Amino acid sequence: MANVPYKIYLNEEELPKKWLNIKAFMKELPEPFINPGTGKPCTADELKPVFCDELVAQEMNTTDKFIDIPEDIQAFYKMFRPSPVVRAYNLEKALGTPAEIYYKFEGTNTSGSHKLNSAAPQVYYAKKQGLTHLTTETGAGQWGTALSMAAAFYGIDLKVYMVKVSSEQKPYRKAVIETYGAEVIPSPSNTTEVGRKILAENPGTGGSLGCAISEAMETALKTPNCKYVLGSVLDHVILHQTIIGQELKTALDKYGVTPDVLIGCVGGGSNFGGLIAPYVADKIEGKNNIEIIAAEPASCPSLTRGKYAYDFGDTGKTTPLMKMYTLGNGFMPSPNHAGGLRFHGMSPIVSKLYHDGYFRAESYEQTKVFEAATLFARTEGTLPAPESSHAICCAIEEALKCKESGEKKTIVFGLSGTGYFDMTAYKAFHEGTMTDYIPTDEDLEKGFATLPQI
Ligand SMILES: *Cc1c(COP(=O)(O)O)cnc(C)c1O
Repeated sequence: MANVPYKIYLNEEELPKKWLNIKAFMKELPEPFINPGTGKPCTADELKPVFCDELVAQEMNTTDKFIDIPEDIQAFYKMFRPSPVVRAYNLEKALGTPAEIYYKFEGTNTSGSHKLNSAAPQVYYAKKQGLTHLTTETGAGQWGTALSMAAAFYGIDLKVYMVKVSSEQKPYRKAVIETYGAEVIPSPSNTTEVGRKILAENPGTGGSLGCAISEAMETALKTPNCKYVLGSVLDHVILHQTIIGQELKTALDKYGVTPDVLIGCVGGGSNFGGLIAPYVADKIEGKNNIEIIAAEPASCPSLTRGKYAYDFGDTGKTTPLMKMYTLGNGFMPSPNHAGGLRFHGMSPIVSKLYHDGYFRAESYEQTKVFEAATLFARTEGTLPAPESSHAICCAIEEALKCKESGEKKTIVFGLSGTGYFDMTAYKAFHEGTMTDYIPTDEDLEKGFATLPQI
């Protein structure tokens, strides 16, 4: 065995200076966004009222394989990057597996997840364009926290529409966001037309990412000098998150380690897309044949049980139409504890790669995920986010298969964040009150019935 340390860090000089634009590598591009009004592909000018110009340019870029990271952002990244690659020696031992397990840990910054990788450039470009206000949605709260950190740093006013169940389950998230100076509004709310409409139709709803997106977009359009920013799903977010995969590959290459299996959890697809990007770029060019797995919750199974179809990104049907794996914009996920994975759709890039067979997907029930999370915490020490624990669960399953077969595979997974604000969920698990909810086919049919006819 090569002498691999517990933690592999990179020097500052080894940090990526460019993001990797996976679309420029793909043999077939994802389908374009469609403007629901015209039925035609969206133009950059149609996206600019909502999004910053530079982010629209990145969103539309299908030709440049690499895009320079501005020096300001490289400097911002140095405050919390590189993130460590950890050899899970203790977990390997506890499982008694011959497999080698590694994870790339994105939870070392205060926001606790990978979200800061995209929050920083998004706020930077907004500031550069002379904007003074931003709005966004947050599900579990990680994105809102990351964005509030970046907004404080660049001096931008921020309103965060937070999915109501999350704001109730995680009151301290709200307090952190407010510490950084942003305003938190539980969604659906009475502050927007779409919020009032959703509340009228669904009075007891705990909200969803889809609702919160509609509210944040409406407020951005109605506020002068204000744009909306999104923490996942879109191509430019995946682009920023490729910092994860590039650092991972540089670190593993230093020790001659090549993954046999690469695993990430998927909500909107950004940490997974960013983690796998350099390896998929090589896979497309025939340079590797890594087995890649996306781990999702059984309660919100967009890849494993969704349809590959054009759909809105939000419940209020205000976004452009995106071709993606989706459960339908009207699908209301059960209030499970992996808030960051409760989105009805999936990144169009990740969806296209899945459709073209570059990876497979597995879904996991909540209690099984928390069993994995608890074992991980007790062996590796780090308290994982429920979202990230889907990847842990999958990695453990793969490691146990190796134990059966005696294969000595190298398993690498993305640990997207920490679970310090998820103690309500951990508590429910320890007290035995946590339940598993798997939608029936009929439940899914109700969601599919809300897909737009195009
Ligand atoms: C937001 C979040 C996710 C899910 O979002 P993706 O865009 O799919 O990455 C996963 N893990 C953590 C810790 C998150 O905060």
